[in-house]
Amino acid sequence: MALPNFPVEGGCQCGSARYRLKAAPLSVYNCHCKDCQRFSGAGWSMSMIVRNDDFTLLQGEIARYDRKADSGNFIRMNFCAHCHGWLWNDPPAASFKVVRAGTLDDINWAAPVGNIWTDSKAAWAHIDPSHVNFPKGAADRTPLFDAWTRSHQD
Ligand SMILES: [Zn+2]
Ligand SMILES: [Zn+2]
Repeated sequence: MALPNFPVEGGCQCGSARYRLKAAPLSVYNCHCKDCQRFSGAGWSMSMIVRNDDFTLLQGEIARYDRKADSGNFIRMNFCAHCHGWLWNDPPAASFKVVRAGTLDDINWAAPVGNIWTDSKAAWAHIDPSHVNFPKGAADRTPLFDAWTRSHQD
């Protein structure tokens, strides 16, 4: 699927919180960690890595929750303050956000190119062996960025 013309927008279920991406993300992949399973209520969540400079919150009040990761770091999670839809995470000291790809108005172009935390995936979750897959977290996301770039070269 070709990338759309940017900017594109997304938001929460109730419509209070809206955001804009002015450029393509660096990658989209699935996270199968237990926290993502709990927060999404699904087998995995779709992580879309977006440079901070490319992301603008257009409207809406945001509720925050600082989740302690296994590393001991706190990851700031951002939700619509009204409907509590999960919108994005701010990893500590990162130049990018991890946006929930399913909140895009159009997710058709945002096909995941990899999987992380496959060690905790559901037994029935199928992992495409041709994707870039990590048994735990990806300390270095470069392979996921490269896979995304490759998948959009025509
Ligand atoms: Zn909302
Ligand atoms: Zn996760």
